[in-house]
Amino acid sequence: MFHNAHSPKPLPVIIVGSGLAGLSAAYTALHSGTSPVYILERAVKPGGNSFKASSGINGAPTPFQHAASGDGAFYDDTIRSAGRRLAGGPSSEARAQRERLIRVLTERSTRAIDFLTGLGVDLSVVTQLGGHSNARTHRGAGKTPPGVAIVSALLEKCKAEGGERFKLVTGCEVRKLLTSGEKENEGVAGVEYQTEGGEVETLKGPVVFATGGFAGDTHGLLARYRPDLSGLPSTNEPRPGCHDVLTAVGARLVDMESVQIHPTGFVDPQNPGARLKFLAAEMLRGEGGILLYKGKRFVNELETRERVSEAIMGLPEAEREGELRQWDVQLLLDPGAAKAAEGHVSFYVWKGLLKRVKVKDLDETTRQTLKDYAEAVSGKEGKVDGKGRRAFGHWSLGVEGWDDEAGVCVGRITPIVHFTMGGVVINEHAQVLSSDLGQDQRPIPGLWAAGEVTGGIHGDNRLGGSSLLECVVFGRISGEQAAADAARGGAA
Ligand SMILES: Cc1cc2nc3c(=O)[nH]c(=O)nc-3n(C[C@H](O)[C@H](O)[C@H](O)COP(=O)(O)OP(=O)(O)OC[C@H]3O[C@@H](n4cnc5c(N)ncnc54)[C@H](O)[C@@H]3O)c2cc1C
Repeated sequence: MFHNAHSPKPLPVIIVGSGLAGLSAAYTALHSGTSPVYILERAVKPGGNSFKASSGINGAPTPFQHAASGDGAFYDDTIRSAGRRLAGGPSSEARAQRERLIRVLTERSTRAIDFLTGLGVDLSVVTQLGGHSNARTHRGAGKTPPGVAIVSALLEKCKAEGGERFKLVTGCEVRKLLTSGEKENEGVAGVEYQTEGGEVETLKGPVVFATGGFAGDTHGLLARYRPDLSGLPSTNEPRPGCHDVLTAVGARLVDMESVQIHPTGFVDPQNPGARLKFLAAEMLRGEGGILLYKGKRFVNELETRERVSEAIMGLPEAEREGELRQWDVQLLLDPGAAKAAEGHVSFYVWKGLLKRVKVKDLDETTRQTLKDYAEAVSGKEGKVDGKGRRAFGHWSLGVEGWDDEAGVCVGRITPIVHFTMGGVVINEHAQVLSSDLGQDQRPIPGLWAAGEVTGGIHGDNRLGGSSLLECVVFGRISGEQAAADAARGGAA
């Protein structure tokens, strides 16, 4: 259908995957050159896991960060969060390469937010998520979750502004990269894909790989790299990862064992044994939510995801529900936190994942915990939180006097497989490398990657809000580069 060998037309830019990384690349490629831009998408509907994103996208500094003028700590927070992968890396060159990627991510975050708001996306509400030393995760003020808002806006703009040059082909799986020569590293010249009807087709042009992570590939890549995680539920759509397509042309992988367990997936009381779970968005804790085990707090809820997950998994496991390993921890939002997160809360209540109850209906241990916590929040008489929490979001219960009639929201949560930090090695130009981190860089001509399919940016732990950001930052870089390559005639 798309054969263009011997055609006088300009080479197309080929983007594999229609999540936020793919759409950011497509939009930028459309505006960077005159080539047609194809998005090839395996699923029937576009958007990938990006569509599900619920807490927001990081940016610093931005006009919406009222309290944090000149927030320069984003880079440092990201370095700290990357943990041992960065600090104890095999060589100083490898560390320097990771630092360069983090520098690009954080320094381009202001532009990423400007880019999205310029498309009409509302990102005016800013929350502080776990592991961040400032509020810098942006979402809209209305009820539309950030993933839906951002993906829909970009898709609409690609269609409206790209016109005939923009082609979105769904139900089509890219299975192979075409190479331009016999030897490894000679360059990628296009893709081979299978259509919905089962036909095998080829398309030639520079390629941006934006196929997402493998947290939903329970029996494939996840089992290969982290067999110990079998039995945990996940937030990701069940789907195979396709990193092997990239390694087949010489791409290197990094950090594949670094898999993020998100501490809070909702256990649906109607279906506690379901493997695919709704995420209890991190902003619920950011806006003031707390975690309780048998009525007591056990962790600073704003620690990194890794630490909060470890704290939960250090508690006794609940009895097995089906084949799943789960825990029995309560998420509780007081009236202040629930109000600040109302858009999310009303949805979760409607889904039956959160329940509204009165304070007087809670058990005595929980009520005492809330009273003690309120004293720490108010800071009266120098009281501080014994778990080390310093930012309390919009918590208000008990701060100006106790109210037994106040309404709180409670739900059960458990840790879930959520995000894969590892992936293909790229450089600051989003070029896929056939060299390991820290070695002399060998970019594979004609091949770029962006989003969760890449590795090396987040190290051991991704900060909440930084995945949508990497999709926009590296998606835009790759789109621009691939458009320039298509204009030059590519490696085809
Ligand atoms: C429930 C949930 C909530 C989240 N909330 C946040 C948040 O608030 N903030 C944040 O920063 N991050 C969040 N994340 C993480 C973030 O959404 C993802 O990491 C990010 O969106 C990944 O984007 P992507 O474009 O790389 O991949 P995806 O959005 O997953 O898109 C990849 C696409 O590629 C397609 N594809 C795969 N293989 C092929 C193939 N061989 N051929 C053709 N197509 C293919 C897939 O079908 C998919 O549509 C959340 C994730 C989940 C699951």
